[in-house]
Amino acid sequence: MERRGSHLGRVLVVDDDAAMRRLCSRILVHEGWHVATVNNGREAVAYLASEREQLDCVLSDIQMPELDGFALAAAVHADDADLPVLLMTGDPSLDGAVKAMDSGAVSYIAKPFDQEQLAAAVARAARRHGTARMRRRAESVHRGLFGETEDRDDLGRRLSAALAQVWMAWQPIVDVSTGAIFAYEALIRTEEPTLRRPDILIGAAERLGRIHDLGRTVRSAVAAAVASAPPDVLLFVNVHGLELTDEDLFTASGILSSHASRVVLEITERTGLDPAVGPARVAMLRKLGYRIAIDDLGAGYAALGALATIEPEIVKLDMSLIRGIEEHPTKRRVVGAIATLCRELGSRVVAEGVETLAERDAVIDAGVELIQGYLLARPARGFGAL
Ligand code: C2E
Ligand code: MG
Ligand code: MG
Repeated sequence: MERRGSHLGRVLVVDDDAAMRRLCSRILVHEGWHVATVNNGREAVAYLASEREQLDCVLSDIQMPELDGFALAAAVHADDADLPVLLMTGDPSLDGAVKAMDSGAVSYIAKPFDQEQLAAAVARAARRHGTARMRRRAESVHRGLFGETEDRDDLGRRLSAALAQVWMAWQPIVDVSTGAIFAYEALIRTEEPTLRRPDILIGAAERLGRIHDLGRTVRSAVAAAVASAPPDVLLFVNVHGLELTDEDLFTASGILSSHASRVVLEITERTGLDPAVGPARVAMLRKLGYRIAIDDLGAGYAALGALATIEPEIVKLDMSLIRGIEEHPTKRRVVGAIATLCRELGSRVVAEGVETLAERDAVIDAGVELIQGYLLARPARGFGAL
C-alpha cells in the first residue's frame, strides 16, 4: 500500500472510507509525500508499531468504527508525543477540538476540503508539531541509521537551489479603526518547485541544520525591499527559534539591523524558543531597535506565559482561533479575553487568517483592531494597496 513520491517525508492516511483514502493519497503523493494507507484505527496502531519512526504525520478520519480518530491520536501520543496527527472532521465542533487538543500534537482540517487546503494542512502539521521529531531523525540520518544519506544530499541541493531563488511575499495587516495599512508581513517564497510550500522549505532547513542560512536569506531579501515599502508602515518578519542563536541577528552591523526601527520580529515558541534564553535574547533585539511580536498565540505552543516573559509589542492570534469564530461562543470568549488582557499589558493584537466578513465582524466585536487575512489581501509580490 506504499507509494513512492519524491522526498518530503511520510504520511499515514487512516480512513474507513475507500474513496477518501484514495483522494487523500492522490493529493499527498502529488505533493511529494510518501503515503501509506490503512482502513481503520486498529490497522493504524499495528502499522505504527513497526513504522512509527518513519512517519512525519498521521492523517486520520475522526469517525471510524472501534477506534476513532481521538482514540488513535491518544494511542499515537502515548508512544510518541511529537508525531503530528491531523484529524479530518465533518463537524468541527469546539467540543471535539478541545477533546483532541488534550491528547497532544493534534490539528484539524474540516471536510469538505480541496487539494490546496489538504496539502497546506499536512505541510503545516508536519512542520508545526514535528520539529523535535525532525531534529531527532536528522541526527539519526546523520548517523546513517536509515541509509538516507542520498536523500539528504538531494535535499541539500534542493534547499540551496530554493534559497538562491527566494523572494518575499507581502501581506498587509490592516487597522480596522482607521482602515489604513498598519504593516506588511514578509512571507518566504521560492521558485524551487519541490520546496514551494514555506512549511516544507523551513522543514527542510530544520532537517539539514541550515536555519541560519534561511534566516539570513530572508533578512537580505527584506533589507532589499525596505526602500520600496510605503514610508509609514511597519514590516513584520518571521524569526525561527533557532535563528536566535545567529549572531548576525544581534549585531549592529547585521543584515537587517540598520532597519530595526521599522521591523517587528515575529517569534513563535513552536520551534524551541528556549524559555531560559529567550527573554535575554529578546532584550538584545529590543536594544537594537526591533519590536517583538508573539506569533501563533492560541495554536498550542505559543503559551500565554510568553506574554509575561517577553512583553511583546504585538500579539498575533493563530488562525485556528479565528476560523469560524462567529459560530463558536468559546472561541469568541477566548479571543475577547486575550484582547482585554493585551490591552491591559500594552500589547496590540492581530487576528490572523481572517477569511470571511463574519469572522472579521466577530473579531472586531471581541476587541481586536488589527486584521490580516485573505479577506483583505493575499500575500503578493510588492506592497499592494487594499
Ligand atoms: P505564519 O507566520 O503564522 O504566517 C501566516 C500564514 O498564514 C502564511 O502562510 C500566510 O500566507 C497564511 N495566511 C494569511 N492569511 C490567510 C488566510 O486568510 N487564510 C489562510 N488559510 N491562510 C492565510 P505561509 O506563507 O504558507 O507561511 C507559513 C508559515 O511559514 C508562517 O506562518 C511562518 O511560520 C513560516 N514562515 C513564512 N515565511 C517565513 C520566513 O521568512 N521566515 C521564517 N522563519 N518563517 C517563515
Ligand atoms: Mg508570522
Ligand atoms: Mg502566525
